Amino acid sequence: MQKILKHRIKTHHLSSKEIENLKSEYYAGVNTKELTLKYKIDISPNNLVNTFPLVKTVSEQCKYCKIAMYFISPTKTNKNRKEYICITCHHKESTLGCRCKKCLYQKAIEKEDVQKKKSLNNKKNRDTVLSLREYPNAPLLSMLSIKERLYLGALSRVHLFHDVLLIDMNNNNSQNYAPTAEYRDKIFIELLDKHIIIPYKIRKNESSEILKKYVQGELYDICISDIEKDKRELVTELMYPVNSNLSYLNQDMLRLQEEIQVNEAVEYMMLIIQKFDFYTFNAEEKYRILFSQILKGYSLGQLFNFIYTAIRNQAAYSKQRCQQGYIPIANYVYKSISNRYDRAKNLGWNITSYNRIYEAEETELSKLINSVLQQK
Ligand SMILES: [Zn+2]
Ligand SMILES: [Zn+2]
Repeated sequence: MQKILKHRIKTHHLSSKEIENLKSEYYAGVNTKELTLKYKIDISPNNLVNTFPLVKTVSEQCKYCKIAMYFISPTKTNKNRKEYICITCHHKESTLGCRCKKCLYQKAIEKEDVQKKKSLNNKKNRDTVLSLREYPNAPLLSMLSIKERLYLGALSRVHLFHDVLLIDMNNNNSQNYAPTAEYRDKIFIELLDKHIIIPYKIRKNESSEILKKYVQGELYDICISDIEKDKRELVTELMYPVNSNLSYLNQDMLRLQEEIQVNEAVEYMMLIIQKFDFYTFNAEEKYRILFSQILKGYSLGQLFNFIYTAIRNQAAYSKQRCQQGYIPIANYVYKSISNRYDRAKNLGWNITSYNRIYEAEETELSKLINSVLQQK
């Protein structure tokens, strides 16, 4: 669930009078740490404002659901912000725009419309070269597993050459479709093996000279079909899935989410290892097993905490013991994460959630699955 909704329950023990007091103290600038203690709210001080109850505002209606929206209390540094959320569909009215699934879909459709017009304008030149290929005998969209759909959706979000609906693996997009290079390879090969994407080959009547003029990438065609939708609609729906007829596959989705998070954790670990100037190493299978075990009881942010703390402690420890040559860091880190996890679990420790780091921002695959899971 969104951060914006999940912390609200943490002020349920307060009366409305107490909440009023809490809010006025907060906006008057009282130290937030003190406020969390005084009102016994289990939250990090930075997130305190996210525990304030939403205020139903009849004058603001959700443009999708046509019901009253809720006012979200602004942070004290941004007191004048007016932001409303629909608690049914999570649509937001805000100066920052909205990234709810309906808005994303809407934006994608508008973008595709613009593309369509643009393509039509240039059509004459390259009709013979880059015509959209339909594959009438290709698998139907509904025949793909949830995993294949999301893999393809994430890949398209990053690598789609919109004009001609081809996957262009050489486009210079700084965004990644999935965490770690190994995981990206695995996804790509799986799609190729199942012929969901196929290398784009020039046909007899197509001139490679003209093709080069338009595209310089390593191109793959998306090989799926549908009885009702045309290819552009099909691809848009993959990138921004809108209806939740995927719910019966819930178990598969949770498994896929775990697979993605394990890879995000491996990526995070490698970056932290580098930050502390250790030798990098291959994250063996045992790490993946440990991480998926931890994810059964803790969030990804908490797993980041386990990883970060283990490496930081190891860094302090090895510096104390001076340079003793090569340190088998891989073993230490594994042992340290695993020990701390055992202790945390047995003693019921409160583990703070850590944020992602800049070099490993959330990938499209993770955003995609979160948006689908949020529709539940
Ligand atoms: Zn709504
Ligand atoms: Zn929205």
